[in-house]
Amino acid sequence: MEFSGFGDKFAGDSGITQLMHDLNDGLTNPDAIMLGGGNPAQIPTMVDYFNQLLIEMATSGELTASITNYDGPQGKDRFINALATLLKHHYGWDISSKNITLTNGSQSAFFNLFNLLAGKCRNGASKKILLPLSPEYIGYADAGLEQNMFVSYQPTISLLDNGLFKYHIDFSKLVIDDSIGAICASRPTNPTGNVLTDDEVKQLDTLAQAHNIPLIIDNAYGMPFPDIIFADVTPFWNSNTILCMSLSKLGLPGIRCGIVIANEEIITALTNINGIINLAPGSLGPAIADKLIARNDLLRLSHDVIRPFYQRKVQYAVSRLQHYITDPRFRIHKPEGAIFLWLWCDELPITTKELYQRLKVRGVLIVPGEYFFIGLQQPWQHSQQCIRMNYVQSDEQMERGIKIIAEEITRAYTMG
Ligand code: PLP
Repeated sequence: MEFSGFGDKFAGDSGITQLMHDLNDGLTNPDAIMLGGGNPAQIPTMVDYFNQLLIEMATSGELTASITNYDGPQGKDRFINALATLLKHHYGWDISSKNITLTNGSQSAFFNLFNLLAGKCRNGASKKILLPLSPEYIGYADAGLEQNMFVSYQPTISLLDNGLFKYHIDFSKLVIDDSIGAICASRPTNPTGNVLTDDEVKQLDTLAQAHNIPLIIDNAYGMPFPDIIFADVTPFWNSNTILCMSLSKLGLPGIRCGIVIANEEIITALTNINGIINLAPGSLGPAIADKLIARNDLLRLSHDVIRPFYQRKVQYAVSRLQHYITDPRFRIHKPEGAIFLWLWCDELPITTKELYQRLKVRGVLIVPGEYFFIGLQQPWQHSQQCIRMNYVQSDEQMERGIKIIAEEITRAYTMG
């Protein structure tokens, strides 16, 4: 069949679709070790909490009420009001319900934002989204209605003790001119677990304001919820910042609830897009999250249950990786947040796409790093030397997977 230009762009293969297929295949193959996808862990305390909450909401009729009615295009008012109050109180941000809109997952918020702020403009010029630090979240890669909507730059790398390393934005390289419509960075970053420092965020904010473009901060893993962040940094928002949040990594990816916090102009635009594309965002997620806020459990569970759970998992995963892989060319990005480890095999004689295939044959799924260097301005050998693994599986599964990853990396180093 002959598809439209839109069809050609969106109906073909993409990195994110391959990732979601693999995730699905892994879920139907009981023997696969799923270190690839971005599904959050099934944290027993959270699963029990949601079970109990849903029973109570079903008994009181609130569950049925939420799924038998459309909300408005901005999303459930009650939740939006409660969240605005919580954030204002917690961080002193000058926000009200006019600064928040909901989307069906934050992924769809990014699609709407990128195409709102970049692409073909009224004057015929084409604008791009600047990703200041490459690698960045794979889910952005295909989200532009136009081809090549992203531009990104190589970071600087500090080599740290204990085989760790950390990326930093190379501000000397960034070019911001009339062709840039917005700056966007995930913090914590998927895939690397990097967290931009307060100073880096401040510099990005200054650049964004100086060029009269918004700064989008993807806070899917950040503070105050789900709080999967181990670095000592401060959350950031002002009226030029578009902060995107999500209920997914709280343990609720299936309800598809994204949250955008921005100035009224952006919120009105996104709300109007919601009306056209979705009529209204889903109402179950906000109904659940509203309960969590009313019970003072949203921040408590994030801080006391979710963060410690992932912090222990990441320490375990790093210790196993360092135990099984002793080659000095192997390094791990300092884990500062999110649910992934970013493994760098310097001088690897094969691409990580090849490594991915070899691991897949042995029943271990990871994501090859190549996909994450979206819009990179110059070729970079490093982009063929990294893989992403999550640390959400059981310790036993993770250790089995890590042993196989270690064997394959060693084989690649010794035999190609
Ligand atoms: N942003 C980042 C950095 C992510 O890792 C993800 C999902 O993995 C998303 C956004 C999208 O999440 P969701 O659409 O489930 O809110």
